[in-house]
Amino acid sequence: MFDLWDVFQHYQIKEAKQATRDLRDQQCTERDAQAQELRRLESKIDGLALVTQALVELLQAQGVSEQAIVAKVREIDLRDGQLDGKMGRKAQACTSCGRTVHPRQRACMYCGTAAASSEGLPGVVS
Ligand SMILES: [Zn+2]
Repeated sequence: MFDLWDVFQHYQIKEAKQATRDLRDQQCTERDAQAQELRRLESKIDGLALVTQALVELLQAQGVSEQAIVAKVREIDLRDGQLDGKMGRKAQACTSCGRTVHPRQRACMYCGTAAASSEGLPGVVS
């Protein structure tokens, strides 16, 4: 005997299975993207650690003590008023045109005026 209820239930089960597969595929895609971003960040950290180690060794070879390096790190950390292990991220107004200058920019992107806090090595801050 043909049971319309069974057909409906089979249809619903099939739809639920497909929805589950779609969700699983979506989660895999998100996980892959997160894993890729994690690898990119780890690679960037490795590169920064390498450059930092080279700079510390060069400074120490020039007679700069580890204590002096630590004091400089602390001084730079405190430039934004917070000892948080991070460089300041506060945007400042351009002294010439008044537009906002991102802290990582060495000069105003609108008028080219050097940022008030621009210091450091060329190429390190971009
Ligand atoms: Zn400007």
